[in-house]
Amino acid sequence: MSHTIAAVSTGSQVSAIGIIRLSGDDCAAIAGKVFSPLNGHPLTEAPNRKLILGSLSDKEGRTIDHCMAVYTRGPHSYTGEDTVEFHCHGSPAVLAAGLDSLYQAGAKPAKRGEFTKRAFLNGQMDLTQAEAVIDLIEADTADAAANAAGQVGGTLQKRLAPIYDDLVNLCSHFHAVLDYPDEDIEDFGLSQYESTLKKDAKALYALLSTYGQGRILRQGVAAAIVGKPNVGKSSLLNALAGYERVIVTDIAGTTRDTVEETVMLGNTRLRLIDTAGIRETSDKIEAMGVERSRKATQEADLVLFVCDGSKPLTEDDRTVINDCMDAPNAIALINKSDLPQQVQPSDLPFVTVISICAKTGMGLDQLADQIDVLFAGETPCDGSILTNSRQYDAIRRAYEAMLSAMQGLMLGQTPDAVLLDVEEAMSAMGEVTGATVREDITARIFERFCVGK
Ligand code: GDP
Repeated sequence: MSHTIAAVSTGSQVSAIGIIRLSGDDCAAIAGKVFSPLNGHPLTEAPNRKLILGSLSDKEGRTIDHCMAVYTRGPHSYTGEDTVEFHCHGSPAVLAAGLDSLYQAGAKPAKRGEFTKRAFLNGQMDLTQAEAVIDLIEADTADAAANAAGQVGGTLQKRLAPIYDDLVNLCSHFHAVLDYPDEDIEDFGLSQYESTLKKDAKALYALLSTYGQGRILRQGVAAAIVGKPNVGKSSLLNALAGYERVIVTDIAGTTRDTVEETVMLGNTRLRLIDTAGIRETSDKIEAMGVERSRKATQEADLVLFVCDGSKPLTEDDRTVINDCMDAPNAIALINKSDLPQQVQPSDLPFVTVISICAKTGMGLDQLADQIDVLFAGETPCDGSILTNSRQYDAIRRAYEAMLSAMQGLMLGQTPDAVLLDVEEAMSAMGEVTGATVREDITARIFERFCVGK
């Protein structure tokens, strides 16, 4: 028996329609106290999932809205319980009065994410699907939404299920032989599972290696703009952002820390990081900025090296170029193309070199095209990639336990020792799907949700 919860599920702005939602065993009875269907039949007898027109009253019995109610009987509902939704006119005052009236009638305020938590606890979805619900709500690109929608649909769960199933098979076979020696069960030998363990470890590794793409999908491509001072890095960031995000001066060393701005360039979402100009300096604060620039260069998915095309390259330029050589992707930009040029593309050891003018925007279209070539359309957005650090960490532990199991197998360890590792792998995978996750962690996950979801 679950108590009935209620919340407004739509935003707090005025809108055409606003939804109040209830879930719990008594929800239809509670809703029926404040909602009078126009057809005269009580809401508790309403057909399943049908919009019923009627009037909603406040706690004084005054009609506050003419709206629609939908009664969905569990377990075939979002939460797995009986639910009622009111589709009202989207005035925050109407919704607040309607909600208050439902509280007076016996509903309790829903906590953050409580509807989805109930769906999870009632087995309507596993934890990968529940976490994807919040990703879907928060998605800020169509690709991120498509990936989250895939995960809500269970794509990630389907990728993990056959691996988990193999491990359950292995463990149950071992225990069956041990616990029922008199039964006619096929002898247990670890070696017969060697190829299964290998295949499953490989599958976990393949999943782990999608996390880089997943991070890009969630946060955008981390693109560090690097170069010595005064070459036009901040001007480039401002040109790409479309407004004066960073102060531009001709005083070298103005940008002392990294500055971030997320922009869409072509079809790629970039998390641009403007770094302090890299040069030899005795200024302590500037030196700290230089160190952060180096770190940003090392951690970036893409490095945009900027030089001043109107002046010959210097030793400081070459130092930065050296730092860029290990980057997974790097593009060189010869800036200030509006001035007479002293730097040629062939002077720079980069595969892609583009002349730009941060002042006028010249060359930025070409930059967008090149970045699209590197990143756009690369990521499958069907929910089959890892986007979540909690899931990544658990799958990494599962993979390590599998490696340890295989090592034990090769060293001829006893089955029970190897099975300890296999069980550890299963437990870590269970954390991803929610089968073995701790209550405090589950609570933390649902705290990320908004009320009403
Ligand atoms: P940063 O130190 O590398 O971030 O360089 P800034 O963006 O602060 O620019 C340094 C100076 O170069 C400023 O005076 C800018 O106005 C100037 N500048 C930046 N881009 C261009 C450009 O494309 N053409 C010209 N002529 N000047 C530029």
